[in-house]
Amino acid sequence: MFDLKTIIKAKTIDQAVKLLIENPDAKLIAGGTDVLIKLKQGKDGYARLVDIHDLEALNYIRFDDEKNILIGSGVVFSQIIQSDIIRDTIPMLCEAAKSVGGPQIRNIATMGGNICNGVPSADSAPSLFALNALLVIQREKGVRQIPIADFYKGPGRVNLNQGDVLIGFKITRDNYQGYKGCYYKYAMRNAMDIATIGCAVSLKTKNHVLVDYRIAYGVAGPVPLRCHATEQAVLHQAVSNALVDKISETVENDVNPRTSWRASRDFRMNIIKELSKRVTKEVFKRAGEKL
Ligand SMILES: Cc1cc2nc3c(=O)[nH]c(=O)nc-3n(C[C@H](O)[C@H](O)[C@H](O)COP(=O)(O)OP(=O)(O)OC[C@H]3O[C@@H](n4cnc5c(N)ncnc54)[C@H](O)[C@@H]3O)c2cc1C
Repeated sequence: MFDLKTIIKAKTIDQAVKLLIENPDAKLIAGGTDVLIKLKQGKDGYARLVDIHDLEALNYIRFDDEKNILIGSGVVFSQIIQSDIIRDTIPMLCEAAKSVGGPQIRNIATMGGNICNGVPSADSAPSLFALNALLVIQREKGVRQIPIADFYKGPGRVNLNQGDVLIGFKITRDNYQGYKGCYYKYAMRNAMDIATIGCAVSLKTKNHVLVDYRIAYGVAGPVPLRCHATEQAVLHQAVSNALVDKISETVENDVNPRTSWRASRDFRMNIIKELSKRVTKEVFKRAGEKL
């Protein structure tokens, strides 16, 4: 049995914030695919829940007036897969969504929960890093917006205080227009498995020269991360196989994978280097570049 003491359904975002402040040891539950497992395992801190599942105000995928993409934190992965907006603008996020769990999980697991649980294997995280996504967070005294790069504080720890509710994600037009991208998840099996390594690449070329390059990983360190040194090292260089090789040689200095029961550090490093090549080549192809 779950050791659940209270669960209160919030009717609005403001009410969810208020309930969290009034109940300092309460946590949010959205899809519950992480929270319910923690409860079942008897982990501390989940006995009082504020339920934001089905809150309409968190469920949207749309453009704003400046063509920035807005995604509510309550959007589930099936919605991401089915969204024309996401497919037409940032298909890498569709690829990430398709790689999550199985159909039942994708129908209930939210994008917000995927990021707020703070795990390095979150499949949506590398794409959001590569897209420089902004996180819109409601708190008692208004709304703040922070880059995803400032959100992760350590394994399982994120930049949220009691009373904070992640409303959604904003991907500004300058971070997707003119870019091509791809997400690839390496796992021991194709379905219902957590990433051994996840890799997202987003890039822009002009006259066969790399004018912007972003590569982000899940499970390549304690939190999802971007490989900034690699990105700088390859900027403004001509698209070529030699450039791809350079990326895979440089990328190991940007990451710090660990050994776990799932895979050793050495194995993960091997996958990190190999994926940097495969995913970058795939994105070059999508950008119409020939190698
Ligand atoms: C069988 C199975 C397979 C899975 N496979 C994958 C997989 O392949 N890839 C993957 O990445 N994950 C996977 N997961 C993990 C999980 O499904 C995802 O992380 C999911 O996106 C979590 O979303 P949720 O809505 O269920 O979160 P919840 O469990 O409701 O919440 C997770 C955490 O986020 C907090 N939270 C939720 N919403 C908000 C918000 N709006 N603001 C602030 N805090 C919030 C909660 O308080 C909690 O701490 C799997 C889980 C299961 C059970």
